Amino acid sequence: MSTSVTTLTGNRGLQVEEKLIFEQDQPGRTAVDLPAVEPYLDRLGGLRRRGAIGLPGLSEPQVVRHYTRLSQKNYGIDTGFYPLGSCTMKHNPRLNEKMARLPGLADIHPFQPESTVQGALKLMHQLAHWLKTLTGMPAVALSPAAGAHGELCGVMAIRAALEARGETRTKVLCPESAHGTNPATAALVGFEVESIPATADGRVDMAALKARLGPDVAAFMVTNPNTCGLFERDIIEISQAVHDAGAYVYMDGANYNAIVGRVRVADLGVDAMHINLHKTFSTPHGGGGPGSGPTVLSAALAPYAPVPYVVEQADGSFHLVEQVLEATASGQQPFGRMKGYHGQFGVFVRALSYMMAMGRDGLFQASGDAVLNANYLLARLSAALSPSFDGPVMHEALFDDRFLKDTGVTTLDFAKAMIDEGFHPMTMYFPLVVHGALLMEPTETESRESLDAFIEAVLGLAERAKAGDAEAFQQAPRLTPRRRLDETAAARRPVLRWTPSVE
Ligand SMILES: *Cc1c(COP(=O)(O)O)cnc(C)c1O
Repeated sequence: MSTSVTTLTGNRGLQVEEKLIFEQDQPGRTAVDLPAVEPYLDRLGGLRRRGAIGLPGLSEPQVVRHYTRLSQKNYGIDTGFYPLGSCTMKHNPRLNEKMARLPGLADIHPFQPESTVQGALKLMHQLAHWLKTLTGMPAVALSPAAGAHGELCGVMAIRAALEARGETRTKVLCPESAHGTNPATAALVGFEVESIPATADGRVDMAALKARLGPDVAAFMVTNPNTCGLFERDIIEISQAVHDAGAYVYMDGANYNAIVGRVRVADLGVDAMHINLHKTFSTPHGGGGPGSGPTVLSAALAPYAPVPYVVEQADGSFHLVEQVLEATASGQQPFGRMKGYHGQFGVFVRALSYMMAMGRDGLFQASGDAVLNANYLLARLSAALSPSFDGPVMHEALFDDRFLKDTGVTTLDFAKAMIDEGFHPMTMYFPLVVHGALLMEPTETESRESLDAFIEAVLGLAERAKAGDAEAFQQAPRLTPRRRLDETAAARRPVLRWTPSVE
């Protein structure tokens, strides 16, 4: 099959080969006419810019076309199925966007007097209430900017609690299947990380954990459901053992979508857990888009929660406690603050809008449907692919590359071929506990038809791989604006800045 279609222009049908905006520069061209600048007294002294400012000159229609064409090359949950495991790429109801754009919420500023932002503070207070109610935990820090930042918040609270006890504990334990942010967080806070092996059924090896616990261990960080898509059935016993050793339990809540409305995290013995609002409670994310990682804390850690936080006062008004001194007066001992201002307010609005629209019954149904969808994928793909562990799974299904053995096709090749078939690939090569991982998370909002279409494509590709058509896979993707990229070079030697070619 011939795959390279060449055209005179380099365009492919109505898909225009888009130059960088800097390459489209026409110096002096602008979208507006500005009057000539009157003579003025320059007070910049020697600081005046000497070189060109370096912005490209384009007309308004050129700018509009450039960004519109780029947006058409983008693939997102609004264009198709997005089974990225661990990422919970769920539908983002438009209602959330409408709420986030209300001028009374979108146009306020953190420096406004408190009396003028009472509604915003009430919204934060209400969101905190929902998160505490869903998890059964007594406190929540809303300010962390994303999941990894929430981990940092939780582990800093753990360190503060240990310091208050006058203890120095140097180790944080993580299971082998942990998301990379867990050990990174522990290391950033100054702990040494040790890994706890998994059992053959993909869960924490209880005996190994118990054997390792001791007076040097500050915390055990565990994702639950874990990154293999499995519920850690022994979590209560794990928490008990960790507490008996004087350590704390950090639960990575990135997979909360599978259990929301069904499991009260407090009942599992957890001391701290971040909630990725952008995953579980739906905000468009990815590509560095906004996150928000509120972190719920147990009674043992609550006193060390960072500022700021909202309190309701006796007269019913809301107040943002911003100073450590002010917090201390109430008996709190905040370890400090996580970021400027109060957190990702736009995501707070979306999350609360989502929760209120769904209601308790809706959230309960969402987690159930997420698990159902993942098990449907697992059931229909198990014969052709190689599932890593026995199901049933929670909200995502993990496969490894045993089904590709001796085909010459790798997990990466398989993923690239999926792009040609119109599907965003699943998460690849994570978690590291299995070889050549393919981690698929369908989310609850996918219909039976979209799951079936995806399954048919994956089954077809698996059959093709086994039939010995390795070359087609190695060449994939063939139909995208760019063919296979050198991802290693892009990661190791990124070119982050455009420089004009010298002629
Ligand atoms: C997404 C994720 C994180 C990190 O969350 P961010 O919001 O991306 O910082 C941590 N752990 C797991 C298991 C995740 O899936």
